[in-house]
Amino acid sequence: MFLFGKKARIADLCRQIALHAEEAVVIIDRNSEIVFFNEGAERIFGYAANEITGQKLDTLLPERFHIQHDMMVHEFGHADAAVKHAEDRHRQIYGRRKSGEEFVASASIFDLSRGDQKFYGAVVRDISKNRKTEEELLRLAATDPLTGAFNRREFTAIAAREALRANRYHHPLSILMFDLDHFKRLNDTYGHGAGDKALQRFTMICTNALRNVDVFGRWGGEEFVALLPETDIQGATVIGERLRRLTADNLLTYNDHKINFTVSIGIAEFKDGETAIDGVLGRADSAVYDAKKAGRDRISVFRN
Ligand code: GH3
Ligand code: MG
Ligand code: MG
Repeated sequence: MFLFGKKARIADLCRQIALHAEEAVVIIDRNSEIVFFNEGAERIFGYAANEITGQKLDTLLPERFHIQHDMMVHEFGHADAAVKHAEDRHRQIYGRRKSGEEFVASASIFDLSRGDQKFYGAVVRDISKNRKTEEELLRLAATDPLTGAFNRREFTAIAAREALRANRYHHPLSILMFDLDHFKRLNDTYGHGAGDKALQRFTMICTNALRNVDVFGRWGGEEFVALLPETDIQGATVIGERLRRLTADNLLTYNDHKINFTVSIGIAEFKDGETAIDGVLGRADSAVYDAKKAGRDRISVFRN
C-alpha cells in the first residue's frame, strides 16, 4: 500500500514536470492524434491544449514535412530498442505555429508504447532564436563593421578555396586591388565622417556592379579587393575600368559638401598551376603602385 502510494506520487510529480516544462511536450497515439499537450507546447505552438487535443500531429508541422514525418514515426515505431535509446532520438525539425510561422526546433522522440498500446512522445525546443544568433555571430565574424564587406580574413579564406578550384579545373580567376586616391586629404578636408561615408559608398558601388559569384572584401583602411571567378585578364580589365568610372562619376553629399573621390585599381590573373593566393595578390598590389605612379584614377594590369 505504501509502495503503491509512493509510485503514484512519483507518477504525479512526473506529470507535473511534463505539464509545466519550458519545453513543449507532445504525446500522440497510434493514429498520430495528439493526446497530451503541455504548457510549453501551448507557448511554442500557440494552440491551447483543449483545441489541439484529438487533432493530427500534422497540424504542428509545415506541409512539406508531413510525409517525411509519417515515415519517421513509422520507422521509429519499428526500430529496435537500441535505436530508440541512441542519439538517433534527437532530431532537428521544423514546426509550424498556429500563426502559420515556421520555426526550427530540436526534438527528442520517445516510444512510450506498452504492449499493444502505442504512444509516441516528443520533447520539442524552439531553437530559432539560437539559430539567428549563431548566424548573426558568423556574419559579424566574417564582415567589416563599417562597410559590411568581407573582412580580410574571410576574403582570404574564400579566395584560397576559389584558387584551388580554378587550378583544378583550369578555369581563369582574376584579382582586382583597389586603393582610394588621396584619402588622407579627403579625411583632412571634410572630416573622418566623410571618409567613412566614402568607404561605404565605394563598397556599394562595387557590390552593386559585381556579380553574385564575385567576392568583395575590405583589405584594410581605404584598400579593397575583389576576386572574379571565371574571369581572365581581359574580362577583369573591362570590369576594373567600369568600377573606376562609376567611382569617379559618383557624387557624395556630406554636410552640404559635394565630394568626388577616385580609385586606383591593380589587376592580376592567376597563373595556371598557381594554388596559393599570395602571389597574385602581390602582383595586383604592384599594379596598384603603377597606377598611382601613373597619376591615379586609373587601372593598371600586371602582365604575367
Ligand atoms: P594615395 O592616393 O597615395 O593612396 O593616398 P592616400 O591618402 O589615400 O593614402 P595614405 O595611405 O597616405 O592614407 C590612407 C588614409 O586612409 C589614411 C587613413 O586615415 C585613412 N583611413 C583608413 N581607414 C579609414 C577609415 O576606416 N575611415 C576613414 N575615414 N579613413 C580611413
Ligand atoms: Mg592605401
Ligand atoms: Mg589611398
